[in-house]
Amino acid sequence: MESQHDKSSEELSAYLRDSRARLISSLKQEGILRSVLVEEALLNVPREKFIWRDTPESFAYADEPLSLGETGQTISAPHMVVIMLEELELKPDLKVLEIGCGSGYNAALMAYIVSKGIRTKGTNKEALVISVERDERLVEFARHNIESVPELSGVVDVVLGDGSLGYPQASKLEMYDRITVTAGAPRIPFYLKYQLKTGGVLLVPVGGYAFQTLVKLQKSKSKGGKPEFEERKLMECMFVPLVGMDAHKS
Ligand code: SAH
Repeated sequence: MESQHDKSSEELSAYLRDSRARLISSLKQEGILRSVLVEEALLNVPREKFIWRDTPESFAYADEPLSLGETGQTISAPHMVVIMLEELELKPDLKVLEIGCGSGYNAALMAYIVSKGIRTKGTNKEALVISVERDERLVEFARHNIESVPELSGVVDVVLGDGSLGYPQASKLEMYDRITVTAGAPRIPFYLKYQLKTGGVLLVPVGGYAFQTLVKLQKSKSKGGKPEFEERKLMECMFVPLVGMDAHKS
């Protein structure tokens, strides 16, 4: 016989499935969600596993930022996450750096996309996504959340530190095909431009503590071999501040 507990958890799962489907369809209608790879990631990474313990699970697919409790940080609203994922032009096998792991939700979505080749070909997994977080509590939280998605095992490395200097800190080696900063920076962090590979994309909200402009940089090389950046301002946005050595001071 079905217990009341089973019934309510089944009802909750059905509610979550429906609300996720509604969110995906409205993001598509608004022209925000455009690519199949991003849609597959949204369908396979359960946002309800990434919310703070005092947030009701039923809020998981509201198109709103959700608070990460006493850490004072937030998971970005799904439309903002999707805008950034589409602008990043992610593809299987790319190496990605995220600054500002928070709940780990965006890192998990990116990991789902870039590890597609690994899932289908079954080749050895490596950490394709590195996500840096300065708050130790969130490093723990994000690791735990990402572990709840079995397909992502070994694909994401969540590291504690100040990502405003890149990862490894202050390295000038070109390492990443994509870099995304999910906190508002006062300027484009210096080392991130070095760590981006030629042909790569860097996304970063640049501006003040509360309001920023989302900036997209594409790196190329001049005939003489010097790095060149094409810079585009995409939209106004609101992120929590990036705090660190090459960022806001607190
Ligand atoms: N991408 C996250 C949301 C990011 S909120 C998600 O999907 O949930 C921004 C995060 O950036 C916060 O967790 C904050 O602690 C972190 N942060 C701020 N400055 C940082 C820095 N210099 N290095 C690493 N993380 C930073």
